[in-house]
This record gives sequence, C-alpha cells and structure tokens, in this order.
Amino acid sequence: MKNYDTIVLASHNQHKVQEFGQIFKDKKICSLKDIGFFEEIEENGQTFEENAKIKARTVKKFLEDKGVSYAVMADDSGLCVEALGGKPGIYSARYAGTGKSEDNINKLLSEMQGKKNRKAFFQCTIVFLEPDDEEIVVSGKSYGKILDKKEGENGFGYDPIFYSDELKKSFAIASSEEKNRVSHRAKAMEKLLEKIK
Ligand code: IMP
Repeated sequence: MKNYDTIVLASHNQHKVQEFGQIFKDKKICSLKDIGFFEEIEENGQTFEENAKIKARTVKKFLEDKGVSYAVMADDSGLCVEALGGKPGIYSARYAGTGKSEDNINKLLSEMQGKKNRKAFFQCTIVFLEPDDEEIVVSGKSYGKILDKKEGENGFGYDPIFYSDELKKSFAIASSEEKNRVSHRAKAMEKLLEKIK
C-alpha cells in the first residue's frame, strides 16, 4: 500500500467516520470537522458515483487551497428497494424531507405496506483521491429485506428496518463488528484496499 498516514473522510457523519476507522485500523481517519471544513456540500449528482466525486473533489480543493495534500475519500451510500424501483437510492438521507432517520423509516414503511417483494440492498460507492490526484472508484452492496417494523437500536439510518440476508437479523440488532463484516461500506472498502495496496 502506498504510504498514506492520513486520510480525510469527506463526511459530516460521525458514525461513518467510526465505521471507516474500524475498517482502516492502521490509518488516521480525519473528519471534515478535524480539518475545519464546516460547509454543506451540495450533492446534485444523479448517481452514487457522481455524488461521491463531488464530495471528494470539493474537499481536495479545500485542502489544496490551504497548501495541504492528503488522500481524500468520499462515499455516497443509500438504500435501494426493488419494489420501489430503487428508491430511496441517492435520496436516502432526506427521503422524507426532514433529514431525520425516524421520518425516513416511517415514510418507507408506509410505502412498503402490503408489498410482497421486500428485497432491498444498501450500496456504497467510494471515491478515493490520492495526493497525486489519481482517482479510484469502487462499490459494495449488502443484500437483505425491508422488515414490517423496526427491530433493534444499534447503528443509524435505515438499520432498524433492514434485515441482512448474511447476518440473518436486522442491522440494528447486529453489533458494529458484525455489521462491519458484511456491510456495503466494508465490501467497498475491501475492494479499495485491494486496489491501493
Ligand atoms: P450519504 O451520507 O449521502 O451517503 O447518505 C446516506 C444515507 O443512506 C444515510 O443518511 C442513511 O439514511 C442511508 N444509509 C447509508 N448507509 C447506511 C447504513 O449502513 N445503515 C443505515 N442507513 C444507511
């Protein structure tokens, strides 16, 4: 692996910083707060990849303007539900319009009422910008089903209503170690580590 000591994760989400930190154990993962970046980045892409690129490039430019050159990693992720034609997809974070997970979950549960096909997957697409600007793009998926009601309290976002086919329980019942073994983020990370080692 190239000698990156520090990787800036282009996300305001502390859960993600923690999850990536557990996966990337030998690296220092900095959050946007750590580098003094407090703006909201407008994610106006049409795909997970476009949105991840927008985030990574914006943060890389911010660092370059300060004369710093770190590797920057950005992910864009979401839940894609088969019976809803892939929704909420790239709109997962603000699906109900409020940005609150509770509201997103309730909206999804009501749209799924009476639906027999409960198949869904989480997708994570990661864009990794090396200090020399080489760009690596990888994606990971984690398959499962949408539950009828919430099960468990761990994790974040849609975890309480996502039954993982691999873990045979909801992501919110699973421990963080269990989730990190099978999650879309972990799978994308594995591919990334293969590419940059
Ligand atoms: P992002 O920060 O733009 O990638 O937003 C992703 C959104 O998708 C989050 O706010 C969550 O609603 C949802 N999401 C992504 N990954 C997960 C996960 O591992 N568990 C639960 N929800 C997730």
